[in-house]
Order: sequence, then C-alpha cells, then structure tokens
Amino acid sequence: MLGVVPSVRIVDILDILLVAVIFYWILLFIRGTRAVEILLGLLFLMGIFILSKRIGMVTFQWVVGNFFGGFIVILVVIFQSEIRRGLARMGQTRLFGWAHLSRGPDFLEELAASAFRLAGSHTGALLLLERNMGLSEYMEHGKKIDAVFSYELLASLVSPLSPVHDGAVVLRGERVAAARVILPIPPESPATRAMGTRHRAAWGMSTDTDAVSVVISEETGNVTVFFYHQMKVVKSPTELEETLRKLFET
Ligand code: ATP
Ligand code: MG
Repeated sequence: MLGVVPSVRIVDILDILLVAVIFYWILLFIRGTRAVEILLGLLFLMGIFILSKRIGMVTFQWVVGNFFGGFIVILVVIFQSEIRRGLARMGQTRLFGWAHLSRGPDFLEELAASAFRLAGSHTGALLLLERNMGLSEYMEHGKKIDAVFSYELLASLVSPLSPVHDGAVVLRGERVAAARVILPIPPESPATRAMGTRHRAAWGMSTDTDAVSVVISEETGNVTVFFYHQMKVVKSPTELEETLRKLFET
C-alpha cells in the first residue's frame, strides 16, 4: 500500500480535480435542457447495444456499432450549439471577484422602489442584473444605453410608448447597459408551463447564467425575482431589496 502512495503526484490530483470540475460544470450547464434527454437517449441506445452483443444480434450490433464508431463526431454535431454557448460563457466568466460590479445600498433601494412603482401602474418589465457572467452576447441585438440607473430613466424605457419597451432592460453594476434585449425562450418544462413569455425568458436566464432577473408583470402587477433555477414572488420593496442584497453580497 505504502509503495503506491509516492507514485501519486500532485499533477495527478490536479488532473482528477480538473476533470471532476469540468464534468460538474457540464452537468450544471445542461441541467434542465434538452441535452439531458438526448444524453439519456444515447445511454439507452448504448445499453441495448451491449445487450445485443451479449445475446449475439449481429445486424443490430453492426448498425449501432458503426453509429457509435464516430461517437465524438456525433457528440459534437448533436451538441454543437451547447458547445458554442459553453465556450463563449467560459471566455466571458470573470473568474475572480475583482470584476464583481458593486451595487450600493442606495442603488438596491432605488431599484426595489422603482420595481414596485412600475408594478403599481401595471407597467410590465424584465430587469436583468448582470453578475459574474458577462451578458454582452445577449445585448448584441438590443439597444445600448449605458446610463446611470434611476426610476425616471427606467420608467421612460419601459413605458408602453417607448420605442424600446419590448424586451429586457439589462443592468451592469449601477448602470443601465441596454434595453429592448430579446432573450432566448427556454424549451417547455414543468417549471415554465404556466408562465408567459416574459417570465419564461427570465426563468431561462436563471438556468443558463448567474444573472438575476426582476420581472414586473403587466397582467397581475406581481414582482418576481428569478435566480439560480428559482423564482420568488416578492410582496414589498423591502422584501425585494433584502432578496437582492443577499444575492449580491455573496
Ligand atoms: P406579463 O405578466 O407582464 O403579461 P408574461 O410572462 O405573461 O408577462 P407576455 O405577456 O407573453 O409575458 O409578454 C409580455 C412582454 O414580455 C412582451 O411584450 C415583451 O416586451 C416581453 N418579452 C416577451 N418575450 C421576451 C423575451 N424573449 N425576452 C425579453 N422580453 C420578452
Ligand atoms: Mg402576459
């Protein structure tokens, strides 16, 4: 036993850790997406293939064996868009906290008050708050704003007469980065079944990125926060401020 220990080098431990992190990251990334179903389908096929080998089903084995021959190519083709998205995310993720944009107490208070003022007049909005993962990819087709956040600015952006009222308003730090940002709608799932498109888009962002969304419903006047595969209806500006504070302090 002791003879085995010295042969484990630090590099080996790093190697295993790195692979574990990559697998964990991939699983987190595909959680709740169609990729999971495709992977399960492939696993199922593989199971039948092994069984067919055992019992000697030659033709089936030949067909599926050839299919799996180019397994890596198959994976790349099937998951092309996921791989592209993942690599882009990796490049955008700011690994260290230094880039974590600060949000002061006054800002969160004003943001929370603004959300409830909009809710009071049933003005719908989706505010997307950037965290460590860059959202530039989503903002590409929106309207760049880059201005200090205030209720007045937000209200003019999302008022029904504004040319940029459709889509999300993206906040970077304490600034409004862009408006009229159309976000991807995630595929239907039990979590999104009862939601309209605005809420669905916010849910999708909470599963694909670390961004936090505050959604003000035009129909119900409800204010909902979406983050990390969770949604929470908040009832007051104080509750919204507290929720955001907790999210942005960690
Ligand atoms: P509400 O409760 O406010 O009605 P909802 O979830 O029912 O929201 P919809 O009524 O389907 O959503 O859409 C309302 C608005 O949401 C749209 O007019 C549009 O401005 C915005 N919206 C819809 N889809 C997206 C999207 N993919 N990205 C950003 N904003 C969107
Ligand atoms: Mg609606």
